[in-house]
Amino acid sequence: MSTNKTFPIRGMHCASCSLTIERTLKKLDGVESVEVSYGTEKAKIKFDETKIDAAKMSQAIDPLGYALIDESPVVKSTDLSAAQMGMSESEHAEHLGLNQSKKEKLAELQHMKTAVMSAIPLAIASVVLMVWELLAQFGLIAEMEPVWKTFFHHLMPIFATYILFVVGKPYLLGLYRFLRYGKANMDTLIGLGTVAAFLYSFVVTAFEESLRPFLNVDVVYYDVTIVVIAFIALGKYLEVRSKLKTGDAIEALLTLQAKTALVVRDGKEIELPLDQVIHGDVLIVKPAGKIPVDGVLLEGASYIDESMITGEPIPVSKSVNDRVIAGTMNTTGSFTMKATKIGSETMLAHIIKMVEDAQGSKAPIQALADKISGVFVPIVLVIAFVSLALWIIVGTPIIGFSQALSFGLTCFVGVLVIACPCALGLATPTAIIVGVGKGAREGILIKDAATLEKLHQVNVVVVDKTGTITKGKPEVIGGTSDDEHLTILASLESKSEHPIASAIVAHAKVNNIRVQAVTDFEVVKGKGLRGHINGKEYFAGNIKLMEDLKLPFDMQPIETATREGKTPVILATRSSVLGIVYVADAIKPEAIDAVRALHKRGIKVVMLTGDHRNTAQFIAAQAGIDDVVSEVMPADKLTKIKELQSQGKIVAMAGDGINDAPALAQADVGIAMGTGTDVAIESAGITLLGGDLSKLVKAIRLSEITMRGIKQNLFWAFFYNVVGIPLAAGVFYPFFGLLLNPIFAGAAMAFSSVSVVGNSLRLKSKKL
Ligand code: ADP
Ligand code: MG
Repeated sequence: MSTNKTFPIRGMHCASCSLTIERTLKKLDGVESVEVSYGTEKAKIKFDETKIDAAKMSQAIDPLGYALIDESPVVKSTDLSAAQMGMSESEHAEHLGLNQSKKEKLAELQHMKTAVMSAIPLAIASVVLMVWELLAQFGLIAEMEPVWKTFFHHLMPIFATYILFVVGKPYLLGLYRFLRYGKANMDTLIGLGTVAAFLYSFVVTAFEESLRPFLNVDVVYYDVTIVVIAFIALGKYLEVRSKLKTGDAIEALLTLQAKTALVVRDGKEIELPLDQVIHGDVLIVKPAGKIPVDGVLLEGASYIDESMITGEPIPVSKSVNDRVIAGTMNTTGSFTMKATKIGSETMLAHIIKMVEDAQGSKAPIQALADKISGVFVPIVLVIAFVSLALWIIVGTPIIGFSQALSFGLTCFVGVLVIACPCALGLATPTAIIVGVGKGAREGILIKDAATLEKLHQVNVVVVDKTGTITKGKPEVIGGTSDDEHLTILASLESKSEHPIASAIVAHAKVNNIRVQAVTDFEVVKGKGLRGHINGKEYFAGNIKLMEDLKLPFDMQPIETATREGKTPVILATRSSVLGIVYVADAIKPEAIDAVRALHKRGIKVVMLTGDHRNTAQFIAAQAGIDDVVSEVMPADKLTKIKELQSQGKIVAMAGDGINDAPALAQADVGIAMGTGTDVAIESAGITLLGGDLSKLVKAIRLSEITMRGIKQNLFWAFFYNVVGIPLAAGVFYPFFGLLLNPIFAGAAMAFSSVSVVGNSLRLKSKKL
């Protein structure tokens, strides 16, 4: 048996780390698949628990400088005092059965900040010295006083030593791992470059006199070591800081969780921390209070603001038996509720988990970037050494050994420093994290990055009628009023979960009809239902069901009613029709806007329904849908999707997610209309909370802007490496006299990562 688990990974510093970890873990016996995201610093691993465990996996990546953290689900009991003390975010996470390593990341960020703060003044001093010397060379300013010159001459090695060994420790470790285990990553490149610059300078300084005949001993590269490391450390710091920001959607969701609940125990009201609330507890919710757990309203009534979950701004009226959702906010009423779902079972916990998983998943568009960064490091190493060698071999006869060596070293360091494809690795995941998080805030839950990527290519949207175009809350409007028949019908329908059934049961209740016991109950898929009452067999359903039974009935009134958008429910025994009830479901006003907006984008909208042709056409006409397929059996919905796909269409299917599951799964993008109370979140690629179809248009737009952001990121990341490497290698020097000072390589490298993350963050403020 294999299990799927997500582990946080510690020690990731650059994008190629994810590939190195993936490769190493995949080789282990018992590991079936691995997906490591640099964006979230998590690994999704499918493995055989009988063969391998987290500790062994962690051991395998330990020599590479990483650790895999096994967080077994936290089940903690807190004493009462914790409630009064207030809870931190990680404790919130614990209550939801989730894990959060944010605190650790903040500590790491603080650590980086200290290092950067110490490095930047030294870097600035080095740059000032360098510029001074340059300007003095051209006679633009006066030479530095010799005393000062000697002073700095001796000070620079000290600065460089501090920077390399303290601030540059991760890069030194990268170099060490390369030498020891032959494993190279981004850190290795930077480590090799800066160490080379340092070592060369150090040797020159140490043996100045004996080297003088062969080399220009006045040229040393301490400033390169200092500035490059300082820039890269600054870039990394800004990158990590922004990366934390890309993930703040999760944080916002976590803070929705209430801290305590007012529980009735032994007739007394007591305030308890959330993890002490158990199933079936009776909770009191006061005006303006947060709903602590998922549950059912027992007594009282109120309006509840569910906007944080569904994105719908208008508070929803709730009365007895209505479901309430943890994390939503009560307005002015007060009520008691029964806890039905607690901790990790709540919808909020599911949403957070889904957002986390989606943010950590890989978009197909990333595959290319991954492939490239995978072969990047060795290739860059080769380029760096080749350019060093070429400069010395080809350059010595022309410009002399000393000058050629100096150029060669400059190129060597420059190539190593600029080549790091960090930006390439950040391009996709950062945009996905922002995109998925932005969606969550709008009540658009995205299952994975692949779905988000696919969505903008969709050109046909197939919609289910009931619950997607219509409100899904039909009402009985006419038909038989015979109490006996209504009793039989309501009794049968009380066993069904179809929206039609709820309409009939509600209608019976209003008419004070009591339902009777039903035996041998059976759903006749796409047609209706069947069951025994008092030993007699009854059927209820549509025309097809009557045709199956070969029962004659008067078509005239049905024809008229369906043209007005009513759905007939016919009650019969095996031998005769007893009566007909009509139900009608109002159209969702926002569905009309949604259909219009989809059309505007050139997306075709097709309505699929099991309902009567006339009824379907009536609703479709109201919604402005041009293409209707009616009277389809549930299994045929799937066939219809396949048919569209075989015509080369990219199909999104929006349904209520319960009986449409097979069709949702077949579609390129399955969209579940979550009504906010009962959401099968994991079943579809996208869940639109609140069941508002116009959110689909927003979701498509979100996909579009996210993909555009990714493409921009990838373009700049590629472009920068494509131009940067030959420039640093000195390819352009013989033609244009262009050579990249390693200091600029460091700056460019830092800037590229920061600009990519910045571009992704920009998506946050885009309007959907
Ligand atoms: P849809 O989701 O498009 O309504 P279904 O397959 O759920 O498609 O239902 C198809 C048709 O079967 C309905 O339009 C209705 O006529 C009939 N039907 C299904 N369930 C019931 C029920 N519980 N009571 C009466 N009729 C039903
Ligand atoms: Mg349906």
